[in-house]
Amino acid sequence: MENRKMEIQTNRLDRGFYQYQDEFEEAALRVLRSGWYIMGKELKSFEEEFAAYIGARYCVGLGNGLDALWLAFRILGIGKGDEVIVQGNTYIASVMGITINGATPVFVEPDEYFNIDASRIEEKITERTKAVLVVHLYGQASRMDEITDICKKHNLRLVEDCAQSHGSKFKGRTTGTFGDIGCFSFYPSKNIGAFGDGGAIVTDDEEIAKKMRIYRNYGSEKRYYNMVVGTNSRLDEIQAALLSVRLKHAAELNEEKKRIAAEYDKRLNNPQIELPKVREGSDHIYHQYVIRCKRRDELISYLKENGISTIIHYPIPPHLAQAYEYLGHKKGDYPVTEACANEVLSIPMFNGMLKEELDYTIDVLNAFV
Ligand SMILES: *Cc1c(COP(=O)(O)O)cnc(C)c1O
Repeated sequence: MENRKMEIQTNRLDRGFYQYQDEFEEAALRVLRSGWYIMGKELKSFEEEFAAYIGARYCVGLGNGLDALWLAFRILGIGKGDEVIVQGNTYIASVMGITINGATPVFVEPDEYFNIDASRIEEKITERTKAVLVVHLYGQASRMDEITDICKKHNLRLVEDCAQSHGSKFKGRTTGTFGDIGCFSFYPSKNIGAFGDGGAIVTDDEEIAKKMRIYRNYGSEKRYYNMVVGTNSRLDEIQAALLSVRLKHAAELNEEKKRIAAEYDKRLNNPQIELPKVREGSDHIYHQYVIRCKRRDELISYLKENGISTIIHYPIPPHLAQAYEYLGHKKGDYPVTEACANEVLSIPMFNGMLKEELDYTIDVLNAFV
């Protein structure tokens, strides 16, 4: 292997640009030349296209995924004194979406698919529980049949963090359509990524969509008539136009990642490496391809020596983050979540990954002793 060392990054965003370079450049120039940069026709058509793609009635474009999350809870009236159930092994933004509103996150351990363990939700429900936030982590849908039943039974709101699951399905239904609100990020590395920040919510509820449009624009429907204390969170015209290009190719982009995942599944054969499992009925879109390894940190150094960079999603679970010291959790409180933080590793997985890069990565991983 020494004589064919390659440099491989976990993600290569430039490759995603060059795949549709002409279309992206045409879209960006169209907006630049139009003289209209915020809240115009590009946003309107992207919102319609994205709602149709997900299978929801409404889409409201926002500035980023975190805004989608905290505004979702704000609009549902969830705040101080309320509890929201969420998996322990998620990106910090999921939790901040809850706590920005003053609500308290109640953590549940993940299942073997890195999603919330549906069988452990009910034991965490109290008088104060108002909602469940499911995170379709790494691109795989959570166990939505059981989770929607629990929410109905206990009269809880259901919010979906779909920042990693654009187009991912559970039993034929697209993530983002199971709950009251589906929250999306278009951060550049996401499966449908912008060239800067972007986000959106989808919903079937006309009232929620209307409120979201008001909140994202300083709490006003009519200019200078401010009804609520909102925020400034708008998906700008250039990002919306570029996202329309990406969305047009969403199916082939997700298929490409699935093909890469299938190669890893088939050809990785190192007994020290545990491959990601796919839930029955779930259509995994592999935002990340996440392996587990007991000697994870040694594996990272070994891969680095061989030119392969990796990322840990995520090394510090939210309950142990300094920001959440005030919640009073300690190490050992969520052993399944903490084992994930110690063992998971995201290996190279991106649109435009070359066959020789994939072959090399597989060979190097299989040769780890
Ligand atoms: C990326 C991400 C977010 C936040 O999105 P931003 O656009 O970066 O604010 C939220 N939740 C999850 C699971 C994410 O991966």
